[in-house]
Amino acid sequence: MQGANHPSDTPISYVDRMTGFLIVIASFYIFTSFIQRCWAWLTGTSSVCSQTQRNSTVTPVSVNYHFTRRCNYKCGFCFHTAKTSFVLPLGEAKRGLKALRDAGMQKVNFSGGEPFLEDRGQYVGDLVTYCKHGLQLPSVSIVSNGSLIKESWFVKYGEYLDILALSCDSFNPETNELIGRQQGRRSHLDSLQRVRDWCYKYKVAFKLNTVVNTFNKDEDMTTHVTELKPCRWKVFQCLVLEGENAGEDALRDAEKFVISDEEFRDFLSRHKGVPSLVPESNEKMQNSYLILDEFMRFLDCRSGSKHPSKSLLDVGVQQALDFSGFDEKMFLARGGRYKWSKADMRLEW
Ligand code: SF4
Repeated sequence: MQGANHPSDTPISYVDRMTGFLIVIASFYIFTSFIQRCWAWLTGTSSVCSQTQRNSTVTPVSVNYHFTRRCNYKCGFCFHTAKTSFVLPLGEAKRGLKALRDAGMQKVNFSGGEPFLEDRGQYVGDLVTYCKHGLQLPSVSIVSNGSLIKESWFVKYGEYLDILALSCDSFNPETNELIGRQQGRRSHLDSLQRVRDWCYKYKVAFKLNTVVNTFNKDEDMTTHVTELKPCRWKVFQCLVLEGENAGEDALRDAEKFVISDEEFRDFLSRHKGVPSLVPESNEKMQNSYLILDEFMRFLDCRSGSKHPSKSLLDVGVQQALDFSGFDEKMFLARGGRYKWSKADMRLEW
């Protein structure tokens, strides 16, 4: 008997046809999702990663662009060290800044390294002018150690700059030497006073930044800071970041600079009479800044070291932001939004 019930001999049933059809559809789906995953992996847009790291509701309102890592100082706790000497061509940096403005940036802060080292301050001057005049940003600021700034810079670019923040950790020259906050025998305090006076002369809001560490934690800076009259005195707790100032690959070892939370609180309470004081603990500092490195990659500091995104010049702002690790709530909690345009500050010049 030639097997009457042999499947090959029977007409194909409706169920069999549907099963075959479904198998084809499923195979097609598996194949296309495999191709999509390969593409996402190759282009750095993996949907697996984006589920755990997606951050795309964030608007990059305030961005810190560390366009250079080179510096003429050697602060022992520096956490943005000269691991590369790369600086973007000016045109590329402007392209990235425009993309950020189009994505909602209102404030940009240029930082380093030392921003005035590149092309003797012309590079940062060009960026400041472009952001204020070209992009019409409400706030443009710079953080600098102050040692390389000339009065001619203020004459040329001062009108485009809202805020200049200078770093000063001590009013004792020996402490500055111990920290490395100076170049050779040149006095950091002389530079500070000189540049602060130019800020007043050329109507740029003057801000002061201090990192509290082992060597200055017992200092009382009240009189000096009161005399300097900064619009804001940002006081940071010394921060350790693996790969920057800690660990085998680091260019600095900040261990001997680290202070306890209690020592930081003591410093703050000693200076509570200074009205411009804005404290910033490690916890607040670590995730509440949008940090761009010299390649325009956002740096995610959540794990205690810096993990770069792809460059926003390659993948666009939103995709780069997905990997920024930015904590918007902490940004607001630390007072990240404040009167940051000099037009709004009503300063006494
Ligand atoms: S001045 Fe700033 S960038 Fe330069 S070494 Fe000191 S902390 Fe680092």
